Amino acid sequence: MGSPKLDRIADQANIQVHQSTSQLNYISTRGGESLTLAQILTRGTAKDGGLFVPESWPAINQQQLDELLEGEYAEIAGRVLAHFGGDTLPGNVATNAIHAAMQSFAAPVGPPVTALEEGLWALELIHGPTLAFKDFALAPLAEIIAQTLKHQNRQATVLCATSGDTGAATVSAFANRENLNAVVLFPAGGVSDFQRKQMTTTGAKNVLTLCVDGDFDTCQNIVKALYQTEAATQYSYTAVNSINMIRILLQTAYYFRSSGIVKAKTGKPSNFVVPTGNFGNIYAAYIAKQMGAPVNRLIITSNDNDVLPRLFDSSSMQGQQTIKTISPSMDIQVSSNFERLLWHIKSGDGSAVQAAQQSLESDNGYELSGIEMLSLMQDFSAVKCSEAEANDAMLYMQTRFNKTVCPHTATAVHAIRQLLSDTDASKADAETILVETAHPAKFSAAVEKATGVKPTIPVLASDMMNKKESFVSVAATASAVQSAIDTFLATA
Ligand SMILES: *Cc1c(COP(=O)(O)O)cnc(C)c1O
Repeated sequence: MGSPKLDRIADQANIQVHQSTSQLNYISTRGGESLTLAQILTRGTAKDGGLFVPESWPAINQQQLDELLEGEYAEIAGRVLAHFGGDTLPGNVATNAIHAAMQSFAAPVGPPVTALEEGLWALELIHGPTLAFKDFALAPLAEIIAQTLKHQNRQATVLCATSGDTGAATVSAFANRENLNAVVLFPAGGVSDFQRKQMTTTGAKNVLTLCVDGDFDTCQNIVKALYQTEAATQYSYTAVNSINMIRILLQTAYYFRSSGIVKAKTGKPSNFVVPTGNFGNIYAAYIAKQMGAPVNRLIITSNDNDVLPRLFDSSSMQGQQTIKTISPSMDIQVSSNFERLLWHIKSGDGSAVQAAQQSLESDNGYELSGIEMLSLMQDFSAVKCSEAEANDAMLYMQTRFNKTVCPHTATAVHAIRQLLSDTDASKADAETILVETAHPAKFSAAVEKATGVKPTIPVLASDMMNKKESFVSVAATASAVQSAIDTFLATA
């Protein structure tokens, strides 16, 4: 690959040329900044408030595409990062780091893709150390950050707010790391007992779990405020929330892999049906499709917080009051990562994205034009699932397949039943993959209520139930949280 001249220069310098990646930079969806993958490793938003996107999709040839469609998750994810500028990471740590991280998964080779019935498959993203799909991004990301810091001889403190799954995955991924501390804020009474125990029973000395006397939005606002303080520089506060682009690139790997597995078995491309909140997971599927993976349609599913299905019905993006549901990780009215798709729909026009996001923040929302809606609907559909429909869907999976699914996954089951009965035609030219986002044991009360079956807790998590919990309760102010962090870091 590459021009003969480049290859010769590379030979002489004894370096490898990734011609397709050497120029790849990340720019803000709102127009500002242009950075390398290494530079955005620990960044959340860009300075102008936008999100980082690759300025173009890396061009890959057929052989490179084939290499993304088979093999272990770690290999594929490593190759994905290489195409996206992973060679800018110090020491080129990616593939080994991802491989090391996968050893804490029940299925280290990658998430199982299981056949349910003709034309229907399940992608089980639920066998990671904290039993939610977020492990696939956070566990490797932690390893990559740890190795990078070691290389640079630096220390950092990961800081995040959580409504449950992100915090659990963060604590698990960063516990007992030498050059890293992790501070997680969760809302008092706002997470399930299971999720809280996942965050409070590791016994790791480098983890501080804070129970904040407020709701999730308050926790999130405190974290944002702390990023603007002097302590942020002093302690090297590091962001690993779901708008981190590297998290999304890592997740792209299971879409390549699973669509590749199904293509090899059936010769057909796949529809993915994805329980959606912040739009990170399904955006990863979109990237795989853009790069040539055998992906047909992408189906967004929501609970009663149906901001995205309403956009499809009305051409209007308009948040509403968030409603508490049995699928709390999807209780979101502002899908942060949708801004990335908006940037594509608006053909990379940063100022148009800026205007739309400003209008959304000032509560007016924004409208998409007819052409923009067509561009959206070319790849995506969206289906809302009420609580009653989610309960029905859980019971259906239990009786039809003897398979217990979590309330988030249930929204996708509902969409599949609706779409497959509507359009038998789509069944003929594509397979459908149900994306399972969390293990039912994390939400056992809701699952038992719907199905009468109490989900079994996997061995990975079972010993946690009897361990001693350790967390610090704090008032819902930035100064209270900062002084708890000061005390912790003084002794850590
Ligand atoms: C985070 C989460 C989601 C939503 O994923 P996004 O990437 O935010 O769209 C869905 N289900 C579960 C179980 C989750 O933890």
